[in-house]
Amino acid sequence: MSIALAPRATNLKPSVTVAFMNRAKAMQRAGKDVLSFAAGEPDFDTPACIKMAAIKALANGMTKYMPTLGDPDTRSALARKLTIENGIPGCTPEHITIGAGGKHSLFVACHVLLDFPAPGQPKQEVVLPVPAWVSYAPIVELAGGTIVEVETTVATGFLATAEQIEKAITPRTRMVILNSPSNPCGTMYSEQQLRAIAAVIEKAAKTIAPNLVVLSDELYEKIVYGGIPHFSIGSIPAIAERVITLNGLSKAYGMTGWRIGYTGSSGEFGRAFTSAMGTLQGQMSTNITSFTYPAIVEALANAGPEVELMRQAFAARAEAINARLNAMPGIVNAKATGAFYAFPNVRAYFGKTTPQGKKIDSAMSMCEAMLEEAGLAFVPGEDFGGVGREHVRISFACSLDQIAKGMDRFEAFLRSLK
Ligand code: GLU
Repeated sequence: MSIALAPRATNLKPSVTVAFMNRAKAMQRAGKDVLSFAAGEPDFDTPACIKMAAIKALANGMTKYMPTLGDPDTRSALARKLTIENGIPGCTPEHITIGAGGKHSLFVACHVLLDFPAPGQPKQEVVLPVPAWVSYAPIVELAGGTIVEVETTVATGFLATAEQIEKAITPRTRMVILNSPSNPCGTMYSEQQLRAIAAVIEKAAKTIAPNLVVLSDELYEKIVYGGIPHFSIGSIPAIAERVITLNGLSKAYGMTGWRIGYTGSSGEFGRAFTSAMGTLQGQMSTNITSFTYPAIVEALANAGPEVELMRQAFAARAEAINARLNAMPGIVNAKATGAFYAFPNVRAYFGKTTPQGKKIDSAMSMCEAMLEEAGLAFVPGEDFGGVGREHVRISFACSLDQIAKGMDRFEAFLRSLK
């Protein structure tokens, strides 16, 4: 008997980051010796003061429905953060939406901003510098849009220039997605580079693309260590009203399992966007887990010292992994300046064969063989787009000891290829 499922779901590409993360975890649970560098997940536990805030709220009976986009105190705290720390002008509590993780907030935002075209009309375009996180394209496509890739390479730190972005914008462009620090590249845009991109956005919005919006994914803003300060493009007054800043607590505070994401915006358009987010989320999931709201306020107010310790640990890990990768013949790596990913080019090894006779002809076949034959989990780069097909993603959100062991295994694996 064959009963149909919706093509929307059956045609959807599964997340390769989630797939490799789960596979490595399942192998470890089965007792296999696997070193996993797959999960984009800090190894640090959530700071105690944040946990206590949620425990207290739960004990006090904060267990009921809340306003869809978040309780007023938490929205105020996030608006204050975006105003003071990120310099976003005109961001009030009415410009904040809180969702169940960055991915959920992105999903709702894309459905608020994009739509399917009328029959015979072209799709709305979303300009995306690639390699980029694997979930942008599927989410954009589910919402009716189509991705226009802006190609970047390891040689330029995977940074798209303002000129490249300008060339990619057409009258059909609805959105430009930026992600700094970048997952999977580990690199960051400087303030100067973002100002040049903002000038292009401003010009395009005045001429060919009046509905142009920037979605700035800043989930990794707290994990920076390469001397480039984090800069929010939404702080530039000339385009502030057309920038949606996406963030969350997962990466900065070791809170991946809590599922807390948020967006901030500005001005009249920001208000309309937020209201539409509330309507859609109200038909989707309503509020996030109610007793986590006080934990958000607590994290913003009091977890700074823990965040700084984590940042320092990531900086040391970036140094360590960079030194090891640079010493491996044929591996080309751009030094990470933010987030916790290395994204080396491994093309030099394509065409070789593993000791068990598997042919390495892609990042995917290399990661498959490495997991099966060497007990090492990296994420293959194909689904990150563009030159990602020649790269593997190594998440160094793990101890220096694991990094040393993992790099030993990687080096031995590469040496074993014939
Ligand atoms: N964002 C993390 C990663 O890239 C978690 C998994 C996911 O959502 O993709 O690994």
